[in-house]
Amino acid sequence: MSIAKQRAGRHFLQIPGPSNVPDSVLRAMSKAVIDHRGPDFPDITFDVLNQLKDVFNTTAPIVIYPSSGTGAWEAALVNVLSPGDKILAFETGWFATLWKNMSQKLGIEVEWVESDWRRGVDPSIVADKLAADSKKEIKAVCVVHSETSTGSMSRISKIRQAIDSTNHPALFMVDAISSLGCVEYKHDEWAVDVTISGSQKGLMLPPGLGLNALSEKALEASKLSSSRVSYWSWQEMIENNEQGVFPYTPATNLLFGLQEALKLLHGEGLANVYARHSRLAQATRIALENWGLENLCVVPEEFSDCLTAVVMPEGHDADNLRKIILEKFNMSLGTGLGKMKSKIFRIGHIGDFNELALTGTLSGVEMGLGIAGVPHTKGGINAAMEFLSNQ
Ligand SMILES: *Cc1c(COP(=O)(O)O)cnc(C)c1O
Repeated sequence: MSIAKQRAGRHFLQIPGPSNVPDSVLRAMSKAVIDHRGPDFPDITFDVLNQLKDVFNTTAPIVIYPSSGTGAWEAALVNVLSPGDKILAFETGWFATLWKNMSQKLGIEVEWVESDWRRGVDPSIVADKLAADSKKEIKAVCVVHSETSTGSMSRISKIRQAIDSTNHPALFMVDAISSLGCVEYKHDEWAVDVTISGSQKGLMLPPGLGLNALSEKALEASKLSSSRVSYWSWQEMIENNEQGVFPYTPATNLLFGLQEALKLLHGEGLANVYARHSRLAQATRIALENWGLENLCVVPEEFSDCLTAVVMPEGHDADNLRKIILEKFNMSLGTGLGKMKSKIFRIGHIGDFNELALTGTLSGVEMGLGIAGVPHTKGGINAAMEFLSNQ
């Protein structure tokens, strides 16, 4: 292990989650812990649940767990499904694969649609698979919205249309762990039954909160599930939340942070937050194109605005480049996960991030490419600056 040396200036945390936490959120979390059953707590509970509604675009119940995103995945599965149930899931990348593995460990049968990790879910395959399921055995369609391991974004509204076109009764479950708070998300309009999210990506908090947004249909299904559910029980959570409390100790200081982070998002205006992510993502892709490097995602309408995964030219190791950039310029970039290990690196442009933070990030990448001897054309950063100047 290396001995950490003191370095001046701020570390650039440009991984696609955990993302940078704004100073005011850090300060909000540093307040003294309060009694989670005392008189001041319900106002915090009501406020965060209320402020979250516009981020999910829902009037349905939202549940907050002291957990990682993985916990929120499990909560979604065990509340509505039973061992032996079948789901339809898609190999968009590493996270979709982990969610599939978890489902299987819980005794759920998975119809798994393989893919090359370079695109989102094809809505026509959703329609074909559901149309072929004449016995209606598929209980849920599970999709990762922004696949954080690859930088692809599945088109949830199109997938909803595909499900509707078959009149199939399956539930629709969406992992919006890295997209929520970065791109517009419409839980109600897209008739998603369970949306799963977490604190440490677009919501600009440290890791530690898992979220589920529900639907009436999901709540009905939860009454029929034969899975054993205790810690993850929606019912107990919702009943307690109605009184402003939780069935067990919530992550009090993360909730202080969430309250502040939501205030920041609403203060900027959600439409502006989404436009900013779109602009910075576009600038990143312009830099990439001008370097002559390849985007892992090959479908332009499925580019994620949360991160960009860059394919390394043959014979060059992405983790070597990342190491050089970390040591020389104090910036962390995302590693390739699973079968993309060493083959790609990921640039996070997510959360508390702006034009100059992006140009700093891209200049670090461009300098790193030069030092590592990775073949590229110089000036990607200039092209990105040109684009940003004209916005
Ligand atoms: C980060 C992430 C997860 C996993 O969340 P953890 O908090 O690490 O458990 C799952 N899905 C997606 C799309 C993610 O970005």
